[in-house]
Amino acid sequence: MAAPPRTDARTDSYDLDDLRRRVLPQDGGTVDDTVPQLARADPGLCGMALALADGTVLASEQADAPVSVQSAVKPFLFALALLDTGGAALDRVGIEPTGEAYDAIKLEGGTGRPPNPMVNAGALLTASLVRGDDVEARSARVLEGLSAFAGSELAVDDDVARSEHLLGDRNHALAHLMRAEGALEVGADDAVAVYARACAVLVDARRLAVMGATLALGGRNPVTGDQVVPREVARDVVSVMATCGVYDGSGRWMRSVGVPAKSSVSGAVVLSATGVLGAAVISPPLDEQGTSVRGHVASELLSRELDLHAFGSRRG
Ligand code: GLU
Repeated sequence: MAAPPRTDARTDSYDLDDLRRRVLPQDGGTVDDTVPQLARADPGLCGMALALADGTVLASEQADAPVSVQSAVKPFLFALALLDTGGAALDRVGIEPTGEAYDAIKLEGGTGRPPNPMVNAGALLTASLVRGDDVEARSARVLEGLSAFAGSELAVDDDVARSEHLLGDRNHALAHLMRAEGALEVGADDAVAVYARACAVLVDARRLAVMGATLALGGRNPVTGDQVVPREVARDVVSVMATCGVYDGSGRWMRSVGVPAKSSVSGAVVLSATGVLGAAVISPPLDEQGTSVRGHVASELLSRELDLHAFGSRRG
């Protein structure tokens, strides 16, 4: 029997501008103010994109508006760490959800490892595991890897990177704690520097959707055709996005949206619907869990209208 179709006419012709118009009236939530650059974000910004398996990218108005990627970088740092360590990164970071805030000063009991790669402790660690002997080399490797996921050359916002590095007291605390536990092998300040630069990479909905699609489609970028990471790496990353990607709201997200995703304090949400598509919504006002309010509503509608729920899909 033929394999079920992976895209369909409904997906190919989905009207993202219409979806955007429907979610724009959702004006709840507050813009993050942990660094001054984020505090200045336009609360009315709302951009969306879908990247399909055949390389088609559908985009709404404002899909090209740039924001710093922030925590939405974490799945990709995990992927690069797995790639560059030949899988050994899995011994260095846990994969269990925490039920706590993304920047909780807490490591895994007994091992001293970070609990998972989707919270700050884990991302500080995975960023330290990418190839490179010093901060500069690791930062360059991260940027090159993220660009391969996006199929487009990405850039760092240096002002944001500086603020993240200077003001990220909890990240410095986590890095020192991991040093003390023997979990982190690079200097604490170096680890924060690489992570801060990774959070400050500029993305827009269009590029972020392609990044999500690359993970959803077994590590192969559907636009460039490059195999960015092996299929097993993409599978491991998307599995952890499913259980830990939306902060301590991951359980509610999986029930209501049912698509593995990662949210971030800049209001970016990246989604990876395995075998089908990647999606991104960028809208800065956040709910109490730190997830974009419009991003959450748009993701629920997308999931329902395109039949993407991992456990409720009627596809194939
Ligand atoms: N730069 C932020 C931090 O590490 C990222 C947090 C997020 O997006 O959740 O504090």
